[in-house]
Amino acid sequence: MLTRRFGLPNSASLETYLASDGYVALRKALGMTPEQILEEMRASNLRGRGGAGFPTGMKWGFVPRNSPKPKYVVVNADESEPGTCKDRLLIENDPHQLIEGMLIAGLAVDAHAGYIYVRGEYRYLIEILERAIAEAYERGYLGRSILGSQSHFDAYVHTGAGAYECGEESALLESLEGKRGIPRIRPPFPAVAGLYQCPTVLNNVESYAAAPAILRDGGAAFAALGTPKNGGTRLYCLSGHVNKPGVYELPMGFNLLRMIEEVGGGVRGGKKLKAVIPGGSSCPVLKAEECDIAMDFDSLAKAKSMLGSGGVVVMDEDACMVRAAMRIMRFYAHESCGWCIPCREGTLWLKKILTRVEDGGGVASDIPLIGELSRNMLGRTFCPLGDAAAMPTIAFVEKFREEFEAHLNGGCQCPS
Ligand code: SF4
Repeated sequence: MLTRRFGLPNSASLETYLASDGYVALRKALGMTPEQILEEMRASNLRGRGGAGFPTGMKWGFVPRNSPKPKYVVVNADESEPGTCKDRLLIENDPHQLIEGMLIAGLAVDAHAGYIYVRGEYRYLIEILERAIAEAYERGYLGRSILGSQSHFDAYVHTGAGAYECGEESALLESLEGKRGIPRIRPPFPAVAGLYQCPTVLNNVESYAAAPAILRDGGAAFAALGTPKNGGTRLYCLSGHVNKPGVYELPMGFNLLRMIEEVGGGVRGGKKLKAVIPGGSSCPVLKAEECDIAMDFDSLAKAKSMLGSGGVVVMDEDACMVRAAMRIMRFYAHESCGWCIPCREGTLWLKKILTRVEDGGGVASDIPLIGELSRNMLGRTFCPLGDAAAMPTIAFVEKFREEFEAHLNGGCQCPS
């Protein structure tokens, strides 16, 4: 579905795109009313692929189309969640699919300009995107009178400076406006007051990339690929201790154990499975016995974890859970923007405590202290980074407490 052009010669070119149903959905959308487009998006049960899983059709429907202000489409291509590397491939292999998705969103919300905010470290993607945008202008898919219609739309690429925080939608908007990338207090939400305080639809690359297939085949057909309330396919970034790591497009609700065994070729070296982070570093870890689970937003929420951005990190029996928790916390402490105290201080202290436990310098009271500090961050920060740091830490300590205790006596003796 989304990856069908991957591997084709010149897959990023307009010619390849047009030869495989490219811009067919746009032609269809140009003949539809905004409400009809929104109806198909709602029927698709597409949920935001950036991590939060909010229904995309509903989100687009929040944009007040009758507002006298200009409306904007913004693409979050600030892919930074550890374990996640799918948006990069979507842009690299099929940039026109993303542009077509933006155009469809523009028609749905009456926006005439769109911005693709690209992660700072992904600078090489800018050239690919700009080439695709230039091709689209040349052939009348962008600009004035799109394909001879009354519609017009301009697309721009903007690069971030490599801050994880700018993947948070309101911080991204601040950065896009040329300011320091810190989150805004909400409400109002971007649908009402987004870019330049104007109504804005803001989604992840993969969410926009799904829109052409939804319009082309119909929302119901897309929904039928997944599970109830979790429509379509999604890209899973399978990494860690598997034989065949990679980015795989699979139906929503695909069983996690099957993914590891049948798609990933099983655990590396024939070892036993110990744990899996199912959706990127901010998602609470699952123990091996919890991994017989459907990979959709609702099933993982029931298991007290998250599908997140689709970064599936597999850990074998030798993996050190204390080291995993420490490394994740190092990342969040480094990426905290420092604006609110529970996150700025909490991530720093958790990093220090986890590091000393891992090094063998911890004391017995450190283990409850890690839990207490983490729980004090939950829900007390301006943006989800605080929760993203706290939730996995709580899960690591609760599910693998014996490993933390073992580290108090001489530090890490784990095989790897
Ligand atoms: Fe910044 Fe962290 Fe507060 Fe988010 S939670 S605003 S990253 S300090």
